[in-house]
Amino acid sequence: MSTIQTFNPATGRPLASYEAWDAERVETAVQRAHAASRAWALIPVAERAARVARLGQVLRAHADQLADLAVQEMGKPRAEALGEVSKSALTADYYAHKGPDILADVRVPVDGAEAWVAYEPAGLVLAVMPWNFPVWQVMRFALPSLVAGNGILLKHASNVTGSALALQELCTQAGLPDHLVTALLLADEDVPDTTARLIEDDRIAAVTLTGSNRAGAAVGSAAGRAAKKSVLELGGSDAFVVLADADIEAAASAAVKARFTNSGQSCVCAKRFIVHQDVADAFTAAFVRGVQALKVGDPSHPDTQVGPLARDDLRGAVERQVEESVAAGAQLLTGGKPLPGEGYFFQPTVLAGTGPGMAAFDEETFGPLAAIAVAADDDEAVRLANATSFGLGLSVWTARPPRGIELARRITSGAAFVNAIVASDPRLPFGGTKRSGYGRELAAAGIREFTNTRTYWVG
Ligand code: NAP
Repeated sequence: MSTIQTFNPATGRPLASYEAWDAERVETAVQRAHAASRAWALIPVAERAARVARLGQVLRAHADQLADLAVQEMGKPRAEALGEVSKSALTADYYAHKGPDILADVRVPVDGAEAWVAYEPAGLVLAVMPWNFPVWQVMRFALPSLVAGNGILLKHASNVTGSALALQELCTQAGLPDHLVTALLLADEDVPDTTARLIEDDRIAAVTLTGSNRAGAAVGSAAGRAAKKSVLELGGSDAFVVLADADIEAAASAAVKARFTNSGQSCVCAKRFIVHQDVADAFTAAFVRGVQALKVGDPSHPDTQVGPLARDDLRGAVERQVEESVAAGAQLLTGGKPLPGEGYFFQPTVLAGTGPGMAAFDEETFGPLAAIAVAADDDEAVRLANATSFGLGLSVWTARPPRGIELARRITSGAAFVNAIVASDPRLPFGGTKRSGYGRELAAAGIREFTNTRTYWVG
């Protein structure tokens, strides 16, 4: 029998182990989830929304439990873990309130008949989720999908299996039917085959994945083979562009937050800092000061700003990216090494003089590593910002917002923020371009992704 073993990344010690499911148990879960999702689709949308509102309350009531799990399972600083639960609860409020209106029939005037567009449930959706926001990533998809009338098979990242089971239990406590949200416990070696089989299964209507490009490509191609709807929310290497007229102190302080939130492990963390040459020295000095002041340590401590990386191999990847970039000519301004002692800690690190051809610039850096590149003018800033296979978010800093917007129009991304850090908000769609994926979550676009947009015509 296979087991799923979790570890506490702050110590490297084993945390919990769970029995992984065999094929028979997966089949039973699919049968039950399929039946639950069919019944749920018949419940009026107002009632579905009311249960999602209750789920928001249940999340708030269990914020400490969920935050503790995130701290233990993936090393998130506790204050941030509480923030993620609270944002999930706000998103439950948003969809409970707005979902029924967004899903209401839309009448379309046509000659000699009655016509309208309906947004009907898609069915049972497989949701493959990452560990970096163990509550938010699941809820960002699940809340709108539940209001839309779908059931959910959750394949959460194995290192946050405790969080997956807690979320399933809280869905039941909130009054959602049994089996409507089912956490699948899969052994690592079974994940690719089992998910591919599930995507082919007629009882599963669609699949969504938030995670790496490697996993996204596997799931996206399985969905393509089965001609099934898929949404992919993948990696990012967001540019944070500082123009010559920007408020440098404000930009540098925002840059520290934008890069080091979640210990650098967010898809929309700013990763490449593209700075106009006239302000490069001032920005770099202020940024490095801010990075050196970060409190690194025990994620359960309320003052900690940067915790460990979630897994040792992720720390190894950041170390490799630093070494390769320095060998290619980047300058190490601060940090650059794993912290000695137990746990998967890495020093907050800043590299200057980076650019295309260097690992820290070309690859997604998923940890506390910032790459600075200098641009001679706005055109070079645009060229550098676009010199990536990713296209998730973008942040531009300037004294003149219209100039920032004009610059943003020349850079490909799913979201553009001017004088603000890239962040998701339930009222606005979220998603990527290029290799950062396709489809949208949140807002009206997100809830409609997993519906059947159906035409009615009555002559
Ligand atoms: P990951 O290794 O891709 O894992 C994500 C999920 O996919 C996990 O549940 C994982 O299961 C599963 N998985 C892995 N290989 C698979 C395969 N061949 N077929 C089906 N499922 C598979 O990513 P991660 O390291 O957990 O997360 C970090 C990545 O996610 C980063 O690239 C980050 O930018 C991206 N991300 C994107 C967004 C966004 O909204 N765009 C948000 C957050 C994170 P196991 O855990 O069992 O391996």
